[in-house]
Amino acid sequence: MGFYALKDNFDEGFTTAYWNNKNITNYTCEVCEGINSENNGPLVISFDGKGDMADYYRIVKWHTVSPKLMQVLVDNKITGIRFKDILIDDEKGNLLTTDLKQLDVYGRSGLLTDLNGDEIPNCPVCHRVTPENLEGQKGLSINLDKWDKWDGSDMFYYDNWEGNIIVTEKVKEIIERNNITNIYFVNIHSYDL
Ligand SMILES: [Zn+2]
Repeated sequence: MGFYALKDNFDEGFTTAYWNNKNITNYTCEVCEGINSENNGPLVISFDGKGDMADYYRIVKWHTVSPKLMQVLVDNKITGIRFKDILIDDEKGNLLTTDLKQLDVYGRSGLLTDLNGDEIPNCPVCHRVTPENLEGQKGLSINLDKWDKWDGSDMFYYDNWEGNIIVTEKVKEIIERNNITNIYFVNIHSYDL
């Protein structure tokens, strides 16, 4: 079974999406001092530029989908995800509603695992992987023998790599077949960290 990291392009001339730092609570780990940000309200984003809107944006560790992409995912009963309302900050002090949705990924696959199936070193408390931990790592794997790790979702995160969407072959094929813009895929076995 193939697994792929879902990535966005930055070079297709689309309007750019920005994170608007609202409704956020930061938690700092006392051991590794890593900062984890959680939304405590709707995701708020801003847009800039004159290009077309893309079907998908990654904004920091959050994701937005167009009505078209949402419909494709719903029609194909893709698991591991839910959709949430977001707000657009027009930077004139107005928060606008939109038919874009936040793609909230709740599927999980255990801690980040290298090609050999070994856990990549991480903080003993919050399990954050630092850039030093990732240095020299090439390729990731999903341990299918350990049934309690990957929950079987079509779209998911490693427990300690939130924001980096991993998908099954099925999702990759559906998205490619529907000409969704601003997404490409990298096989996790050859994912260069
Ligand atoms: Zn930590």
